[in-house]
Amino acid sequence: MITKIIPIDDAQKCAPQLSEAGEIIKAGGLAAFPTETVYGLGGDALNPASSRKIYEAKGRPSDNPLIVHIADMEALPAIVKDVPETANKLAEAFWPGPLTMILEKSDLVPKETTGGLDTVAVRMPSDAVALAFIRAAGGYVAAPSANRSGRPSPTRAEYVAQDLDGRIEMILDGGDATLGLESTIVDLTVEPPAILRPGFITGEMLRQKLGCVEEDRTLFCGDTGQAPKAPGMKYRHYAPAGELIVVRGEAEAVTAYINGELARGRQDNKRTGIIAADETIGNYRADVARSVGKRADAAAAAKGLYRILREFDDEGVDLIYSESFEGAGVSQAVMNRLLKAAGHKVINV
Ligand code: AMP
Ligand code: MG
Repeated sequence: MITKIIPIDDAQKCAPQLSEAGEIIKAGGLAAFPTETVYGLGGDALNPASSRKIYEAKGRPSDNPLIVHIADMEALPAIVKDVPETANKLAEAFWPGPLTMILEKSDLVPKETTGGLDTVAVRMPSDAVALAFIRAAGGYVAAPSANRSGRPSPTRAEYVAQDLDGRIEMILDGGDATLGLESTIVDLTVEPPAILRPGFITGEMLRQKLGCVEEDRTLFCGDTGQAPKAPGMKYRHYAPAGELIVVRGEAEAVTAYINGELARGRQDNKRTGIIAADETIGNYRADVARSVGKRADAAAAAKGLYRILREFDDEGVDLIYSESFEGAGVSQAVMNRLLKAAGHKVINV
């Protein structure tokens, strides 16, 4: 299959191209599209065959459910059993935007799309190209991140092409994703509502709207013995090809420890990498050094993390050490993804 890559710089000017992409979805094909979080691999959410194709193209286990993307609030009632007041409140506050809600599904949504579950994940993205594409596609686009399973989520069309060229009909190239990390997922089918994946919409923001909101402990620790509630959370995700280890502790101890390990790696003829902040990146000796930006700027780290992980792959790095970027709010989402990329390999110094 030849994958068409179509640049879209303006949703209105590119209406003909978006309508062509929409036709691909309606005919049961697949098209990747930009959203403000990461690129999505879209198919018709109401067509079981399309969802099967998504799993196949990604190489993703079919028990890992897809997020259904909508463009208008009026589209919601048809795909859920009912719209609880909590969903209305969150939609009013955070949609369109980087928040996915888990709700009881209606019969319209095939089990292929929900990985066999009776619940459905729904999001209304804010990216103008995404919204126009969803409308052109008939209003319900199932889309996981547009990467091959296990690879970092793609934040630009070029990365989608690296993973999926020849496996899907089209890639809409809308430039760099503005946020760079996947949506927050909140489960509204449980009481109190529970965060299944942290993101830009933080626990604090959700609590302001809903009161009590639980944060799933499995998000931050690899070894709680609990089964994660979002099926996708049990798979190793976002991983670079090299070994990635996160080091926690006082700044000076971290630098000393990592530099020792990097030197040892070089002696073993390994190509080494370091992930640090602007303030400390100059203190390390590694073959490939990447800064996530200023330590206090969690949004910059979120935006750059997946690009950095892919760049280590491009550079053939075998051994990567990372500083830890703990903090409140968006830092929690950054650390969640970094720890998953590291397969929860953490050293406390
Ligand atoms: P991705 O589309 O790659 O961002 O992954 C979607 C994430 O949403 C996965 O981690 C899924 O496990 C999670 N998800 C989707 N639908 C549901 C659902 N019905 N219940 C719980 N988690 C879900
Ligand atoms: Mg994904």
